[in-house]
Amino acid sequence: MTNKARLEAQLAELKERLGHVETDLAEPLNADASEQAVEVQDDASLEAQALLIHRDMASINRALLRIENGTYGECVRCGGDIAPARLEVRPEAALCIDCARKEQ
Ligand SMILES: [Zn+2]
Repeated sequence: MTNKARLEAQLAELKERLGHVETDLAEPLNADASEQAVEVQDDASLEAQALLIHRDMASINRALLRIENGTYGECVRCGGDIAPARLEVRPEAALCIDCARKEQ
């Protein structure tokens, strides 16, 4: 499978997960007060999940854009090549391993 196909598959999967999370978030709160506290907590973690999914989708979309304009596989920071083995594990990687380490 090409990196593009993998990215598109990941994007589709994230969209589906986001759909589930948003459906859960849209459910009205339970009228029972003790249940409500639990649900508010659940909603907070669902919102955190939704944020993470949005962030992952954004980095995949950026990777797809780099494929479009022919800069895929180049580090966005230093312009060096991103090792194919790294792209194998993280096809959405925007940084080479050196820059990614400095980032942390
Ligand atoms: Zn770099």
